[in-house]
Amino acid sequence: MNPLNPIRDQIDQVDQALIELFSKRLALVAEVGKIKQQYGLPIYAPEREAEMIAARRQEAEKQGVPADLIEDVLRRVMRESYASENKHGFKTVNLAIQKIVVVGGRGKLGGLFARYFTQSGYSVELLGSQDWHNASEILANADLVVVCVPIDKTLETIERLQPYLTEQMILADLTSVKAQPLAKMLEIHQGAVVGLHPMFGPDIASMAKQVVACCHGRFAERYQWLLDQIKIWGAKLEPIDAKEHDHAMTYIQALRHFSTFAYGLHLSQQPVKLSQLLALSSPIYRLELAMIGRLFAQDGALYADIIADKPENLTVIESLQQTFQQSMAFFQQGDK
Ligand code: NAD
Repeated sequence: MNPLNPIRDQIDQVDQALIELFSKRLALVAEVGKIKQQYGLPIYAPEREAEMIAARRQEAEKQGVPADLIEDVLRRVMRESYASENKHGFKTVNLAIQKIVVVGGRGKLGGLFARYFTQSGYSVELLGSQDWHNASEILANADLVVVCVPIDKTLETIERLQPYLTEQMILADLTSVKAQPLAKMLEIHQGAVVGLHPMFGPDIASMAKQVVACCHGRFAERYQWLLDQIKIWGAKLEPIDAKEHDHAMTYIQALRHFSTFAYGLHLSQQPVKLSQLLALSSPIYRLELAMIGRLFAQDGALYADIIADKPENLTVIESLQQTFQQSMAFFQQGDK
């Protein structure tokens, strides 16, 4: 008989008890989801989460359980909970809205937003590239028109919308760059305008804790409900001037994506076996390789458009190249 067996049996029992507790907790969270939906409360409540984690850390420490362990477990459980809270749909913030049109709504990000609007009780219609012959019907009486087409098609698509827009409609976009689309929307539309940039891709399980950059355009009071709706979905809105946004994106997106692209391209030309590199990499190095994998698995055109969006991006990338040379010189000169 294996001397570990009795203890292993006890561990199995504890694990079973944990599963029962998780099941109980998930059932309670489902109740919370229903109530949040009913009262229109945001999925993500940062204060409640911070207080709860601080309290659990203290309680854990008192019982000799590492506080970080409990925090890790709770955060993982909460991530599960946020995703399951979506199941109940969301409160409709503005009951007066008759119709929302998502231009490019059959695409990846437009599709995600169309789904969230539908789950929030709004009537949603899609205007895809093949639907323009029907545009007057699709756009008639729309309260909100959201543009979400490829970056290089955005300005011409906004222009194309002009004849169908009336003053009471809200015009918004979800493009990853903001200054030019916002200026174009303000130019062709006399009504309310807002530029939004969701800082996430279409593959998220929940909008909880995600960031949406918000560039105000005109008549903010008319689209406040839209921002409130996005908050209910769990996202955090970050107001920013469109030009400042684009400047920040030079560093957050263009420079980062370029480096990842160049690193991946270089790696693909080197005499290495990826499987071997992965086997020898600790988690943090794997993460770096995973970032490269993620970029190359996505739409090349989207990344190319983000990197080459404006001359400033290429100038900053060139300065990175100079820093590479400067850094190289340290090593060539043996300068530690
Ligand atoms: P996508 O290619 O998946 O979707 C674009 C959709 O627009 C397609 O269905 C296409 O048929 C349609 N389309 C093209 N031209 C059109 C036109 N003239 N009229 C109507 N529809 C048209 O691209 P995506 O990844 O969903 O990106 C769309 C927008 O979202 C881009 O502006 C991008 O910057 C922004 N965005 C994307 C992500 C992401 O991770 N995918 C994240 C943040 C922002």
